[in-house]
Amino acid sequence: MSRAALTQAVAAVQNYVRYLQRLGVTDLPVTLVQPVRAGEPTAVAQPSAAAVSPQDTSIPTEPVVGLAQLAAAVRDCRNCRLHAGRTQVVFGTGDPAAALVFVGEAPGHDEDVQGEPFVGQAGQLLTRIIAAIGLTREQVYMLNVIKCRPPHNRHPQPDEVAACRPILQAQLACLRPCVICALGTFAAQTLLHTEENISRLRGRFHMLGAIQVMPTYHPAFLLRHPQYKRAVWEDMQRIQAVLGLR
Ligand code: URA
Repeated sequence: MSRAALTQAVAAVQNYVRYLQRLGVTDLPVTLVQPVRAGEPTAVAQPSAAAVSPQDTSIPTEPVVGLAQLAAAVRDCRNCRLHAGRTQVVFGTGDPAAALVFVGEAPGHDEDVQGEPFVGQAGQLLTRIIAAIGLTREQVYMLNVIKCRPPHNRHPQPDEVAACRPILQAQLACLRPCVICALGTFAAQTLLHTEENISRLRGRFHMLGAIQVMPTYHPAFLLRHPQYKRAVWEDMQRIQAVLGLR
């Protein structure tokens, strides 16, 4: 599908949402849909940064494109300046049907080189955290708010987040997990569209449409401040309970 056709399809969805908003609809009914499997043919859409408001934190109720198609569509993304310094787009990895999705901030050096989220030191700690709740990396899905490595590992800037947000939303619309674990301030604030600090957000679930979001401390933060591991373990146990893993 051409980029223009994909953009047009997203614009049509956005127009429909605006139409519903004008009718006074503030919440979209969420139906649980089967996640689209990699390679499965579906209709529509390259998410367009221009078509999605940065304030729009909702997740479309239907996947508008398959996960593999989405990955292919954004492989050459140049929607923001970060494309200039990246080795590759780090889309996400894991089971597309996972009940649990981890959302981090942005790829670092190792992720940029390997093309997979959370493969560096922080990623190795995350792998151990996942194992502690009885799962493997292959049984969950991991992705970042930002798909390209920011220079010198700086925090992403607001226009970069806005440019990447449609991809994030389209990914989550495909994945439709039961639970998202938002790793660190940046992921939690972006997903929940709040400026609240991670220490105030963590420890309880927040709703994102039908998805339960558990913010917790980022594994890179835990490497520097291991005293917060206990709090993360408590958050993981909350996730375990919701997923019926204990
Ligand atoms: N690696 C990632 O993929 N994301 C982060 O947020 C940190 C390290």
